[in-house]
Amino acid sequence: MKVARKVTGVVISSKDHKEKDKLISLFTVEEGLVYASMRGVRGDKAKMKSAKEVFCFGEYVLENTKGNNVVTQVEIIDNFYGLTKDIDKYYEASSMLDIINKIATPQANPQLFIDFLKGLRGICYQNIKKIYILDKFLISMFKNLGYEFVTEKCSSCGAKLSERKYFNLDIGEIVCPACKNDCCVPINETCFSALKLLNNTDFEKLSTLNLTAGSEVECLKLLDKNFEWRFGKRFSSPIV
Ligand SMILES: [Zn+2]
Repeated sequence: MKVARKVTGVVISSKDHKEKDKLISLFTVEEGLVYASMRGVRGDKAKMKSAKEVFCFGEYVLENTKGNNVVTQVEIIDNFYGLTKDIDKYYEASSMLDIINKIATPQANPQLFIDFLKGLRGICYQNIKKIYILDKFLISMFKNLGYEFVTEKCSSCGAKLSERKYFNLDIGEIVCPACKNDCCVPINETCFSALKLLNNTDFEKLSTLNLTAGSEVECLKLLDKNFEWRFGKRFSSPIV
């Protein structure tokens, strides 16, 4: 007897397999990263053809056949079609997708899943300035991993931070001038206050946020560096 189970997730990668099949990676709320194959979905008339595309969010019924997951049924919740209509939105959402591809493991991480979904919804449906969501998503992701760096105190000595602050890439946290070492890069006040505002504003409220022009890019550069130090790889960034 075949055992079927249902997972709720977003397709984060999709590759051709054999003549008409696709191999997909799903980032799911229940099981984290899940690989599955979708059979005969590449034809125009295929029943589940839109469920194989990246960004598709739905309930996937998986059957375990000889140790492999096969998708037998899909209930699409949202395919975020609007993302393909706006190049900036598409790039920003693609960065989030790339980040998830690089950090997801076969272990449930509901908070990361929720943030990812809120991010995609925000980019697709709300009028939020470019890169705000990506910054917010990264700050939240680091927090989720235990790097809560947006604080008022030096993470090494506990002293109250003054205007001169440094980001210690080695530990992924912010330190004071006395604790600064070779792995530190300075953070200016504009960048720090942008990080703070992004950290304190919910995804749903980001449309009301107005950061100093350019500070969102500075934040992203710092978050990008931090990501590289933490994971040893970089994500595809919407800025060059
Ligand atoms: Zn210190």
